Amino acid sequence: MEINCTEKELFLLKKVANAAGVVAMETYLIGGFVRDKIIGRETKDADIVCVGNGIELAKEVAKHFNPIPQVDFFKNFGTAHIRIAEDFDIEFVGARKESYQFDSRNPEVEPGTIADDQNRRDFTINALAISLNKKDYGKLVDPFNGVKDIADKIIRIPLEPAQTFSDDPLRMMRAIRFATQLNFIIEEKTWQGIKDSADRIKIISQERITDELNKIIASPKPSTGFDLLYKSGLLRIIFPAMVDLAGAEYKDGHGHKDNFYHTLQVLDNLSENTKDLWLRWSAVLHDIAKPASKKFEEGHGWTFHGHEAMGGRMVPKIFTKLKLPQNEKMRFVRKMVELHLRPISLTKENITDSAIRRLLFDAGEDFDSLMMLCNADITSKNKQKVKRFLENFELVRQRCKEVEEKDHVRNWEPPVTGEIIMETFGLSPSKQVGIIKDALKDAILDGIIPNTYEAAHDFMLKKGMGMGLEPKNS
Ligand code: ATP
Repeated sequence: MEINCTEKELFLLKKVANAAGVVAMETYLIGGFVRDKIIGRETKDADIVCVGNGIELAKEVAKHFNPIPQVDFFKNFGTAHIRIAEDFDIEFVGARKESYQFDSRNPEVEPGTIADDQNRRDFTINALAISLNKKDYGKLVDPFNGVKDIADKIIRIPLEPAQTFSDDPLRMMRAIRFATQLNFIIEEKTWQGIKDSADRIKIISQERITDELNKIIASPKPSTGFDLLYKSGLLRIIFPAMVDLAGAEYKDGHGHKDNFYHTLQVLDNLSENTKDLWLRWSAVLHDIAKPASKKFEEGHGWTFHGHEAMGGRMVPKIFTKLKLPQNEKMRFVRKMVELHLRPISLTKENITDSAIRRLLFDAGEDFDSLMMLCNADITSKNKQKVKRFLENFELVRQRCKEVEEKDHVRNWEPPVTGEIIMETFGLSPSKQVGIIKDALKDAILDGIIPNTYEAAHDFMLKKGMGMGLEPKNS
């Protein structure tokens, strides 16, 4: 089987093959690299498996390069890694045979043959190996018809489903992740196995689960993965708040949309325009508080008042639970969730400059991201309605542009800072400073005073004195 390697890759692989000859170890290129080359996808690191000691082979391979690259190795796992020419990573491991105990994720490992090693791989498309041995260099070893599954776009486990998923339940998420990334279908028995074993995901660490979830969200069409996670029962276990969005309720002839599928559509819409993982997370979470804020109002129908603020408050809790970063990424997602209705509310007539200034100020440097999220949030099937919304948004954008050109409120700081307030009234950092600062900001954004130092200073003095404070130098 021809696989499309670059000249450089062929050169590097030949070196590995030569080194394998020196240490007389049967050696293969295996796993994701082979799969992605056959698919024609961009490849990452190359995995090399040898019948023998992977660290020993890595050390020998290193000697074939000038300068000799560093060999990083983990003795306990018998794995090694070298980086060549700054952009080519090779991982080495000895072929092994694995057996699992029911209550543990850690298999008992013993040295094995290449066939044993292929047997422990998760999917037929991930078990492909290419010989780097002199006798049959370049020969594809495909024990489970992985090449056919690639052609047919199928994710299939080679062995028995119950055993496979019980041994390592992360494989369930990996199956769904690969189906999403590659736009493949999960074969029926494999799918049934996932549904039957979903509960076993509980033994997997949150970090590994979230890693797969992020890869699903980063895929071209993430809804595929979420739909599969939902239908398999996995989502209920790993992310119940999202499952709570599913379903539509009817009362007195009033219904509401299914917020789970709406969320997925928003996520797909957005993903057509951005690869930004955190903006995509904002789409996942934008309506997350709808179930908790849902009410039925007689004669009016279903309402979700305040779901954006409540959703914002849920973001840090969800990030903690999913072990996502607790940093500016989280704050960005929270801000997007909190603000996602604001541009829509500005599509009504008679919107004042001050409302526009406030949006620009609150969104700051994330204004464009917010508008992108809001555009994606239009999922109505009514073409007329969609057209009207989009036109209204264009008007909001236009107004924002005009106000920004005039007032420069994006990335703006009030001319009188907290430092100046503290200095003026001899205050240390305290609630009072915050009150004056907020009042000052509001006065400028609302157009009550002009955006100048003199006006702001004067306002600060009046506000402070109104609160019973004395200026230091009066
Ligand atoms: P990606 O690099 O896109 O995350 P990958 O499959 O190319 O995916 P790894 O996740 O590093 O890369 O896995 C490398 C190989 O190791 C896989 O192709 C597969 O053969 C095997 N493998 C990885 N995880 C498992 C698992 N949980 N069970 C069985 N085999 C696995």
